[in-house]
Amino acid sequence: MIKILNNAKFPLNICRGTSEQRIHSAIKLNEELFNNLSKEFYRPTISVDTFTKSLKSVLKGNKIDFKIKNSEIYNCNGACARDFNWKNQTKEVCGYSIYLPINDYDNSLSINDIGTLMHETLHFFIGLLSPKHTTRDAKCFDIDLYKKTESFYNKFIYSSKYTPENLKENLLPKILNTLTPEEKINFLQATRYRLKEEMHCFLDGSIYDYKIKNIHKKFFENPEYKPDGNSFRFPEKITILEQELAKTLKDVRENMAKSKNL
Ligand SMILES: [Zn+2]
Repeated sequence: MIKILNNAKFPLNICRGTSEQRIHSAIKLNEELFNNLSKEFYRPTISVDTFTKSLKSVLKGNKIDFKIKNSEIYNCNGACARDFNWKNQTKEVCGYSIYLPINDYDNSLSINDIGTLMHETLHFFIGLLSPKHTTRDAKCFDIDLYKKTESFYNKFIYSSKYTPENLKENLLPKILNTLTPEEKINFLQATRYRLKEEMHCFLDGSIYDYKIKNIHKKFFENPEYKPDGNSFRFPEKITILEQELAKTLKDVRENMAKSKNL
């Protein structure tokens, strides 16, 4: 059993609509957050406290458990992860950890990293608005599908090194052959959603990176802009996953019909 605690999601009346509508609501919250944060940059840095306060103010009184941690621990620029609590038979999603490039010296975040900040907070908002997706993700983790597929996802799918053509012709069939039909469906659905989410997060990251460099020109002599994620070719990869998902679902239905007729 997987349970998402109330402090790890928005109430049901807010989590309404299709997945596109929920992503849109998350994008709106991210915009509100950016407008708050942008006003706080009197200097080229803000404190983690200021960031946390701005983020809390966008949550509109909903009590959400989240912690801001230094992404250095994970050797990455940023990440947004769900916190799990393993309790015998029940697994609870109890909150979020947002990993950001914190300067340990004065516990601050740099204006230069606003693209990364906004990328990760969009993940956070999408997560809070999509309990169904969170449950599916947690289920993948629970049934060890993650162990079987995570390195494949990181190396071949969430990468700009391999083309969608490569993915379709060689790579995807190889991993799918190692999975049961149920695993295939879970993997394809979860991956399609993850890529959609990344596509929006990269885009938001680059939009706000551009905006902040225009609003606070004085802090940037020769601004370099954050890439918008185009090189990952997310839309084409999403289409391939959708086609593969439709094929797998059709196969499963046909096999079920066959076994009924026996
Ligand atoms: Zn991301």
